[in-house]
Amino acid sequence: ATPTSIMAGSGRAAELGILFKGGEHLEQTHHINTVVVDKTGTVTNGKPELTDVIAAEGMNQEEFLCLIGASEKQSEHPLAESIVKGILERDIELATAEKFEAIPGYGVKAIVKGKEVLVGTRKLMKKYNVDISNVVSVMEELELDGKTAMLASIDGSFAGLVAVADTLKATSKTAIKRLQDMGIEVIMMTGDNERTANAIGKEVGVNHVIAEVLPEGKAEQVKKLQAQGKKVAMVGDGINDAPALAVADIGMAIGTGTDVAMEAADITLIRGDLNSIADAILMSHKTIRNIK
Ligand code: ADP
Ligand code: MG
Repeated sequence: ATPTSIMAGSGRAAELGILFKGGEHLEQTHHINTVVVDKTGTVTNGKPELTDVIAAEGMNQEEFLCLIGASEKQSEHPLAESIVKGILERDIELATAEKFEAIPGYGVKAIVKGKEVLVGTRKLMKKYNVDISNVVSVMEELELDGKTAMLASIDGSFAGLVAVADTLKATSKTAIKRLQDMGIEVIMMTGDNERTANAIGKEVGVNHVIAEVLPEGKAEQVKKLQAQGKKVAMVGDGINDAPALAVADIGMAIGTGTDVAMEAADITLIRGDLNSIADAILMSHKTIRNIK
C-alpha cells in the first residue's frame, strides 16, 4: 500500500463523511462480506414515540404514568427518554424516584412513593415473578406491528404496559439493498424482542435477524460469525454496541451516536445514513485497486 493512495482514499472518504481511523482500516474494509447492523439508532432513527398506554384493570392511568415516568426519568436509555417525553406531553406531573437501578438489557427498577416499580421486558417480569399471563396477547399484537412494548409492575403486581414506535431512517432500505446487491450478507442485531425485530427486519428487507441479545452478548454473536469464516463489519451507535464494534473485523460507528461507540470503532459514519457502509467498502476496493 502506498501512503499516497491511502491518503487520497482517506481524503475522498472524508468528503463523504466517512472517517477512517487509520490507513490500515481503509485497506482492510474491502474484505468485508458480512455486515451486522444494530437496530435502534442505526437502522431506525432511534427516537421512538410513545404510542400506547394500557393500565391494568383497577389501575388509575394517571397514577400509572406518574409512577413509571418517575422511574424512567432516572434512566439514560433512549426508550426511557421516549416514555418520559410521551408522559409529559400528556400533561402528567412526574413524581421523583427515591431509588433507581438500571438493569441493562432488561429495564429499570425504582422506588417511587414507597412503591417498588419495574419497567421492562417479559424476562424482567419473570425474574421478579410478576404474573403477566393476561397481557401476553396484547403485547404480541403491538410487537407484530413493529412496536416495542414494555411491561410495568407495582409492588410485584402487573400494573400496565406502554409501547413505543420507532421510525426507519428514510435511506435504510435502499442502503441495505445496495449491500445485498454487492453480494454482502446483512444481519440485524438487537436487544429488542424477536417479534418487533422481525417486523422491522421485514420492512427494511433483512430476513436474518438476531434478537433479544443481552448487552454483553453482541460481541459474542460477532465472534460466532467470524468463527464461521465470515469477515464481519459491525455497525452501531450505542454503548451496548462498543464491545461488538471492537471485536468485529471492521467497526463502524454512527456519528450521531455515543462517544463510546466512536472510540471503539475503526470508522465513523458522520452522516448516519447506511449508504455510507457500501460507500466505505467501495472506497476500500478502489484504493486497493490503485495500489495493485
Ligand atoms: P437495544 O439493543 O434495542 O438498544 P437494550 O439491550 O438496551 O436494547 O434493551 C433491551 C430491551 O430491554 C428493550 O427493548 C426494552 O424492552 C428493555 N429496556 C431496556 N432499558 C429499558 C428502560 N429504561 N425502560 C424500559 N425497558 C427497557
Ligand atoms: Mg442502537
